[in-house]
Amino acid sequence: MSFSLDQYLQDLELIVNIDSGSKNSKGINQVADFFIERYQRLGYLTEKTTNANLMAVNGDYDNYDVLLIGHMDTVFPEGTAVERPFRISGNRAYGPGVADMKSGLLLMYYSLKAMQEEGLDRDLAICVVLNSDEEIGSKKSIPLIKELAQKSKVALVLEGARNVASLVLERKGIAGYHLNFTGIAAHAGVEPEKGASAVVELAHWVSELNELNDLAAGTTVNVGVIEGGTAANVIAEQARATVDLRFKTEAAREKVETVMEDLKNNPRVKGVNVEVIRHGIRPAMNPSAETMRLVERVQEIGQRLKLDLNWIASGGGSDANTTAGLGIPTIDGLGPVGANPHSKNEYLELDSVKLRSTFLTEIISACRDFKGKRPE
Ligand SMILES: [Zn+2]
Repeated sequence: MSFSLDQYLQDLELIVNIDSGSKNSKGINQVADFFIERYQRLGYLTEKTTNANLMAVNGDYDNYDVLLIGHMDTVFPEGTAVERPFRISGNRAYGPGVADMKSGLLLMYYSLKAMQEEGLDRDLAICVVLNSDEEIGSKKSIPLIKELAQKSKVALVLEGARNVASLVLERKGIAGYHLNFTGIAAHAGVEPEKGASAVVELAHWVSELNELNDLAAGTTVNVGVIEGGTAANVIAEQARATVDLRFKTEAAREKVETVMEDLKNNPRVKGVNVEVIRHGIRPAMNPSAETMRLVERVQEIGQRLKLDLNWIASGGGSDANTTAGLGIPTIDGLGPVGANPHSKNEYLELDSVKLRSTFLTEIISACRDFKGKRPE
């Protein structure tokens, strides 16, 4: 396959050195424009939405054999790329977003380019979607991703891999909650009987929610941030908490939400009112029977490439949760190998890039005759 690592790394340097934090619309637009130009060179039809999400398709199709998904945003603030720009040391490349997931975006492009050069994509309908807000929950891009996924037989997500033989098949669902406690303020020494402490009620919630952790079932509940009160001698009128819930099934999520509803309706501290706001949700990515048929195909490809595949279940979410939640056969973790995402020690393993490109190309090709969920 025609794949030039030198060219790939030159392009990677360009896009890693563009800061594109989720709120940095200038940087995200620059990354989007980079890919628009590249995909147009391949003759793809491209479209950039108002939220700077990018779509590229290799023809004017109603439905797609495969939907390829990546995100252009990173978790890093403006100035990071100047502070620690792209660099290569030995077999590793460093820089903000190098593994999560600018190398994946480019792997997708270079693989599609190689497929086109060799005529391997001729009877394949391919749709690429690059989104701009994955790191903050994909809120603005989920409608587009859902719309495209529903027209696709298969969804492939290019998040980074842990090693050349690993792919992601399961991801936990994620829900986030804001809890607002409103009590009654009073002088804590003079007339405490007139008060209702929002802080005490919050403390009760923290210990009750903590009891819901069930590692065997894959449920984690973390009250990650709390704040409340104004002074030691004032019974607290206000308190707040934020909660992160990870779950494997809808039933597990509902169980936690039922407990919250119960706690809300039966406050331990009379007079405290609690507001529960769910501010984000991603369904769990669980492999369906159709996904398992796709896995079998990928398994065969892995054997041909002498990759002893390991299928990973991750506690972290991605856009794969969204497509799998719709019942579309989905595989994630198809990017090159990297480590330490979201940290300054993030790196990409250079010797994984070419092999992962071959692997991806073969998987995309296999989507040709895969009968997925999409009606023919
Ligand atoms: Zn990512």
